Amino acid sequence: MPRRGGCFGQGARPALLFREQKPSRKRQEIVEITVLIPYAVCGVLGLVFGSFLNVCIARLPKRESIVTPRSHCPRCGHPIRWYDNVPVASYVILAGRCRDCRARISPIYPLVELLTAGIWIAGLTRYGLSPEFIKVTVFNMLVLIVVFTDLLERSVPHAVTIFGMAAGVCFSLLVPMDARPLGWILGRLGYFPSEITLSVFAGIVGALIGGGLFYAVGEAFYLASGRQKEYLGFGDVMLMLMVGFYLGPPLTLMTVLLGSLGGTLVALPLTVASSRFRNYHWPYATFLGVAAIYTSLWGAALLDAYLRWAGFA
Ligand SMILES: [Zn+2]
Repeated sequence: MPRRGGCFGQGARPALLFREQKPSRKRQEIVEITVLIPYAVCGVLGLVFGSFLNVCIARLPKRESIVTPRSHCPRCGHPIRWYDNVPVASYVILAGRCRDCRARISPIYPLVELLTAGIWIAGLTRYGLSPEFIKVTVFNMLVLIVVFTDLLERSVPHAVTIFGMAAGVCFSLLVPMDARPLGWILGRLGYFPSEITLSVFAGIVGALIGGGLFYAVGEAFYLASGRQKEYLGFGDVMLMLMVGFYLGPPLTLMTVLLGSLGGTLVALPLTVASSRFRNYHWPYATFLGVAAIYTSLWGAALLDAYLRWAGFA
């Protein structure tokens, strides 16, 4: 946390009217600990939600219920006891093995829990305790599910993207998004809609840009391959529709750019280096999802920096 200057401003010293009031060391420590409490609470909540995301990642691609039955070991089928279901800690205590049959537990589970905690803390750091924080954190958790279902199963569950789109429309009503470029264009045309109308409109335009762009690119590749090979699945289009509803047009475009760039930087060298990757099915939604999470937190700052650099702002 950046330290603020006292109420008299940094450097300035108040006149000594009574006695110099030095904050005691103990009081200063208490203040510092109090500042950390929201971060600790968010970290714990993130771990708990991460545990639930693991259930979604394991079951949604198989179209199983995420409510019942209770979690069980995939090998011996034994239900997992509540005290073995503590995020990260249980994995460490059990050394990554089932208590009953000693089967290995995937390190993906604690990884997802830690990443979810990271998403909560990053959101809090970026937006403070605000409606934007809730919106971004819900969005990032939905995207994190897709990042891992596509990576592990090459699946982008419609349950996540359709729920995400519906929630995205509600959020654009409750938490108005920054829709400056769109507001500027509409202003030029003589329309001056309210902040809420503009926010909902920005979400819809963002979705059309994200989903539409991906649909067009997918179709172009499909036609270029002589209708032989589908490069982009409909799941990628659904993911980008959802991203658009949350991020609006400029940041949705940035997600597409960063996701494609990231995918190319990973896929191209591997494809050139090894023939094993020639016909490899790359998880596009994983790259796009990582880009979307980055953009939701730091995209606006990156965009502002770019506009300043290009001389637009
Ligand atoms: Zn077991």
